[in-house]
Amino acid sequence: MIEKKLPNFSKAAIVAVGSLVVAYGLIALRNQSLTVGFALLLGISAIIAPRMSLVIPRSKIVISFSDSVVFLSFLLYGPECAVIMAVVETLANCYYNKVSGRIKFAPHMITVNTFGAGLGTASACLLWQLCAAFTDLSSFLIDTRALITTLGILALGQFAASTFLASLILPRDDGSTFWTAWKRDCLAGSTSNFVGAGTAGMVYKIISYGDVFTAAIAMVVFGIVYLTYRQSIQQINSSVEQAEAAEHKRAEVERERRVEAEKHAQQLGWTLEKEARANKALRKSERDFQHAALHDSLTGLANRKNLGDVLRKLIVNYKNDPTVTFQVLFLDIKSFKNINDSLGHTIGDKVLMIAARRFLRLVEKEDTVARIGGDEFAIILKNVSSPAKAQKVARKIYASIVQPFSLSGNQINIDVNIGIAPCDAEYDTPEEILRDADIAMHYAKEKSDGPAVFTKELRARFLERIRFEMDLRSAIDREELSMHYQPIVDLMNGRLVGFEALLRWHHSEFGMIPPNKFIPIAEQGGLIKPITVWILNETAIQLAKWQKIAPDYKDLMVSVNISGKHLSNDDLIDDVENVLESSGIAPKTLKLEITESVAMENAEHTINVLNKLKHIGVQLSIDDFGTGYSSLSVLHRLPFDTLKIDRSFVYLVGENGENSEILQTIISLAKNLKMRVIAEGVETTSQLAVLQNLGCDYAQGFLLAKPKPRDETETLLYKTHNWLPEEVSGQFERATSNVSDENLPVF
Ligand code: C2E
Ligand code: MG
Ligand code: MG
Repeated sequence: MIEKKLPNFSKAAIVAVGSLVVAYGLIALRNQSLTVGFALLLGISAIIAPRMSLVIPRSKIVISFSDSVVFLSFLLYGPECAVIMAVVETLANCYYNKVSGRIKFAPHMITVNTFGAGLGTASACLLWQLCAAFTDLSSFLIDTRALITTLGILALGQFAASTFLASLILPRDDGSTFWTAWKRDCLAGSTSNFVGAGTAGMVYKIISYGDVFTAAIAMVVFGIVYLTYRQSIQQINSSVEQAEAAEHKRAEVERERRVEAEKHAQQLGWTLEKEARANKALRKSERDFQHAALHDSLTGLANRKNLGDVLRKLIVNYKNDPTVTFQVLFLDIKSFKNINDSLGHTIGDKVLMIAARRFLRLVEKEDTVARIGGDEFAIILKNVSSPAKAQKVARKIYASIVQPFSLSGNQINIDVNIGIAPCDAEYDTPEEILRDADIAMHYAKEKSDGPAVFTKELRARFLERIRFEMDLRSAIDREELSMHYQPIVDLMNGRLVGFEALLRWHHSEFGMIPPNKFIPIAEQGGLIKPITVWILNETAIQLAKWQKIAPDYKDLMVSVNISGKHLSNDDLIDDVENVLESSGIAPKTLKLEITESVAMENAEHTINVLNKLKHIGVQLSIDDFGTGYSSLSVLHRLPFDTLKIDRSFVYLVGENGENSEILQTIISLAKNLKMRVIAEGVETTSQLAVLQNLGCDYAQGFLLAKPKPRDETETLLYKTHNWLPEEVSGQFERATSNVSDENLPVF
């Protein structure tokens, strides 16, 4: 702030004090007679001196002859004249410089310079007068020593005063001090003072000799020196200018090079940056690639390969140190296909993601959860010492996974089969341990009783199953399959209404294998459909023959068991139509039996398929009724013609007809649903009597006849008159003596 204000204040002070000094000089000058010489000098200072200044190249030094006229005025006419001379000379100099464009003056600066020059000269004169009071300086006219001293004092005084004043007004925005500003901008000005003083001394001396010739010679010499010097200065200046131009050009080239280099550097920077970005992207895609190679893209879980890698290490570790235990869980989401088929794959994917999240939540950080197939997952539980502990974790997982959730407005229930394989020294590869966990999972699926732990017996069962499955594939071709027929008898009149066709497999090595054992294998191995088609053809062709034996057998019926797997397959309708066409039997003489649990499993689909079958004209029977937890609301929508009571309820009926309540309930229910009732597994006459009393329509059981091969059955067809056992048929005949006999078989 002070630095900013000080120059302005100084300028005002210089102008004020300078005006006083100039006024004093003019007043003092009035008393003196103004000589022609002084006027001439004034003219020289105003017109010639400003044009004679020389600038020393590459320096701030300006040799001006203005000071010499001032000092000469002092010597010739006294201090007042010197002050006036300084003012006139400075004013002229400023205007000359301004007009010639050499210097651009700020406002008021010409005034400040002019009065500053007067003030500086006055200060020099005062200094001289002060010195003259002590020494004999006034004799400079005759005493060269006094002259030199006088000029020295004047030059020094003027230099000191004018540079002091100049440094006061110099702008110091850059924060420089008074002293540094003086050194930087004023010190070089001393040359002008000293050269001016020297010139003034010389001129004064020549004038004081009063010798015109000497003066003329001196003036010529001075003129020649001045012109020579001026010319050389000009030459120097021009070469300096050339040098400066060359320097400027070089600097320009240098600058261009620098700009070019900077551009290159910038481009290089960009290239490096681009490269760095590309490297980063490459590293990221490398990482992504590695991640993708080891993870499942849908759930983000480890994939089969990743799981295999982890297992391989664990197997090695376990062999080295059996205390480092682990357990492998194999999980399979039940009926996941139904979710995909009914709700679509997008929902199916979301279900898998939810399942994956639930699995992850329930295991420890160090455990590995992997998706190894469509709806199959595996979990490696590390540091779990026993299968029992693994079972505990599996049960926890099970409890979590069965929690219903909603997705896009659908209530979703999922269920999971879990098999556990404990670590064992006999495992050498991940495939072996996964295979055993899978075996345990299949066992869990079969028994539907929560997670199952792998045992060697399970493996034996599994291998046997595989063997049977393989053998079953070629059983038809090898003619190992055959049909047995079990009669179904009308309880009202002992008439044969038809047979249930029951499949038999005579294994070349193991003999007779019960259907309860091989039918599930056929179902799981995808063989049940071709086998059923074979059964349908076999039985229909057989029935067509038997229907021709006698007119009473023309409506003889055959019941064929249809597996749930076949029912869910749309081909069933075509298969049935084909068999009716090829055999020529009436559709109503073919009955299809569907187990209650299968019918209820996917009720809507069952209703749909059964309606189509009904449309063809075949008959339908619900088998093993009482074991499948039927929903009554569904049951009445299923288009069954007959209901087969499961033999476990018939079996309950004792010798004296006790425990028949359930039979009674089922028979009433069937009647209400407008279905005919067949009781299967009738083994005793009391059971038969109870069923007759309860109004059961038909019966099937060992008491009436065991399932028999085709030929034996055919023999029976020829020789049997009444299909009820004798003791019962006797009673029956008595009870129905008034009923017409015309519908009974004639033989
Ligand atoms: P299912 O359809 O309920 O067949 C009746 C089963 O009860 C037959 O067993 C039959 O031999 C047996 N049985 C009939 N009366 C009596 C009796 O008085 N006492 C006893 N203890 N058993 C009696 P089988 O032939 O062993 O068949 C068992 C199951 O295998 C069948 O039950 C059926 O679910 C399935 N099956 C048999 N043959 C076929 C077939 O051709 N296709 C399909 N999909 N399943 C079949
Ligand atoms: Mg059956
Ligand atoms: Mg049955």
